[in-house]
Amino acid sequence: MQTPLPSSSGTKPEMKEHCSHRADCLKLIQLILDGEATEQQLARAKANLESCKPCIQMYQLEKEVKELLTKRIEKRCCPEQLVATIKTRILSFS
Ligand SMILES: [Zn+2]
Repeated sequence: MQTPLPSSSGTKPEMKEHCSHRADCLKLIQLILDGEATEQQLARAKANLESCKPCIQMYQLEKEVKELLTKRIEKRCCPEQLVATIKTRILSFS
């Protein structure tokens, strides 16, 4: 006997806990954050970011690092602290 699955029509695809194309994703994410992604790349990354948990985290991390770097350039403040922050982020992420 099979237990009927709850109706899942119209729901989002299941979140992937592991990314099998991380290098690719990272490249896309960096292109987007640099504002150099093409329409196609943007669409691909967007679709992936909706279902790929590690990529969402990677995107947020990259974005944060980029923002920190921008701030540092603007304010010219404490690079040691910045590096420490980024390192902690990367460690907690991986
Ligand atoms: Zn991915």
